[in-house]
Amino acid sequence: MGKPTGFMEYKREKVKELPAKDRISSWNEYATRLSDESLQTQGARCMDCGTPFCHMGVEIRGAAAGCPIQNVIPEWNDLVYKGHWKEALDRLHMTNNFPEFTGRVCPAPCEGSCTLGINEPAVAIKSIERSIIDKGFENDWITPRVPQSRTGKKIAVVGSGPAGLAAADQLNQLGHSVTVYERHDRLGGLLMYGIPNMKLEKSVIDRRINLLRQEGIDFVVNTEIGKDITAEELKAQYDAVILCIGAQKQRVLHLEGSESKGIHLAMDYLTGVTQSLLDSNFEDKTAIDVKGKDVIVIGGGDTGADCVATALRQQARSVHQFGKHPELPKVREDDRPWPQDPNIFKLDYAYEEAAAITGKDPREYCIQTKKIVADKDGNVKELHTIQMEKILGDDGFHYFKELPGTEKVWPAQAVFVAIGFEGVEKSLPEQFGVKLSNNRIQASIKDFETNVPGVFAAGDARRGQSLVVWAIKEGRAVAASVHEFLSTNVTV
Ligand SMILES: Cc1cc2nc3c(=O)[nH]c(=O)nc-3n(C[C@H](O)[C@H](O)[C@H](O)COP(=O)(O)OP(=O)(O)OC[C@H]3O[C@@H](n4cnc5c(N)ncnc54)[C@H](O)[C@@H]3O)c2cc1C
Ligand code: SF4
Repeated sequence: MGKPTGFMEYKREKVKELPAKDRISSWNEYATRLSDESLQTQGARCMDCGTPFCHMGVEIRGAAAGCPIQNVIPEWNDLVYKGHWKEALDRLHMTNNFPEFTGRVCPAPCEGSCTLGINEPAVAIKSIERSIIDKGFENDWITPRVPQSRTGKKIAVVGSGPAGLAAADQLNQLGHSVTVYERHDRLGGLLMYGIPNMKLEKSVIDRRINLLRQEGIDFVVNTEIGKDITAEELKAQYDAVILCIGAQKQRVLHLEGSESKGIHLAMDYLTGVTQSLLDSNFEDKTAIDVKGKDVIVIGGGDTGADCVATALRQQARSVHQFGKHPELPKVREDDRPWPQDPNIFKLDYAYEEAAAITGKDPREYCIQTKKIVADKDGNVKELHTIQMEKILGDDGFHYFKELPGTEKVWPAQAVFVAIGFEGVEKSLPEQFGVKLSNNRIQASIKDFETNVPGVFAAGDARRGQSLVVWAIKEGRAVAASVHEFLSTNVTV
């Protein structure tokens, strides 16, 4: 806990953010740290609540309640309040391999479960987490921990997202020899080519990977398992294989006109922009560019928000984001009681930026695209929409009803499709002979092993598109299971 009376004396302070109007001219991170003094005050707000729900890490109605990796938040809040930053870092690293990622991009379900959050703004847990780790790097407290001895066991991790990296880190520290294979040219999975640079600067990922490399993990990029190396070859070379291949098969739009030029999958846009930024600061002109265009993002989720923020930085003429669902409530509703995730309206960074420039939140709610119309050259010209109403049917399910008379035509020269992900790409699991269920790799939460002995799965590939913090949790858990497997089995 922090100071016994801190929660009554101090107000919550948000992370420092550059003003929305200024930051859209830059691709650098828009959020920075609070001062040490402010952070200590924020740590002091943590109260002695007896049972700290902030670190319980369970799922209630499909959403996280409390920190999924069970970060022992009250302990590091207390250490920060007392100015013991290094001890706070050691405590944090015991449960979280990569606080510099979660401290930047985690939606912080811990804060939704903070006891103080019942009647006051929650403790600023995520800001404190980020500051502990950033301070650790700045002060050179984080140095390579090279294992003293090796077990002689070899493990292949396929995929370098947060699940693969966490699994590799854990197993390497146990003395096993780990090789991570990645089909992209850069490591990090969706941390690298998904989450935009302004939310998570890519140098932050490279810094961690350099450390993991110095600790003994081998990384092989530009290598697609299943094509460049077959499943059989991989199994023959390693004592265990972990599939952390994500769930990146995107949903496509099936609509009249959706084959028009200028309609792109969101991930093609986001990946291309980050790659071009990192390769050449956009000199190579390989990224989709929406400068001066009217942009529409179809899909109301977080991937869509990242497209909005990216389009604003490219100086699009206008940006709108279409969502099927109604606007979320401003305060926690009765059917979302604490300590569940409150699922309330938030002005995400992208929307704040759009509002600062256009004076309006770019989100359009309860809207359905009916058709896309192209010009004579096949380029997208306009989207035709209708408003909908969400109604509760007699069977207890919700339905959407179109509202006649609300038809509208929107000009658009670029459209990004961000309507979610179907699940795992099937070809590699099929080559391994691994069973799928609901477009995910079938592996139990108990041991993460698939139906093929010695082949394990974790992260989005196993649980479906999720969050970085869940991927880290799964990476840690699969590592524990693989370690146990290697203690009792010799080869795959
Ligand atoms: C646009 C976007 C923004 C997001 N923003 C956030 C956010 O702000 N906060 C948050 O918590 N979560 C966010 N997420 C979700 C989060 O990024 C994922 O849940 C997380 O990265 C999953 O980790 P993973 O390791 O399971 O898989 P991934 O990160 O998807 O990594 C899988 C890796 O496997 C590689 N791979 C696949 N097949 C092969 C093969 N055959 N051979 C070699 N390599 C292969 C892929 O190239 C990829 O690098 C976002 C997701 C998207 C799409
Ligand atoms: S990882 Fe996420 S849920 Fe856990 S303490 Fe950090 S911000 Fe909160």
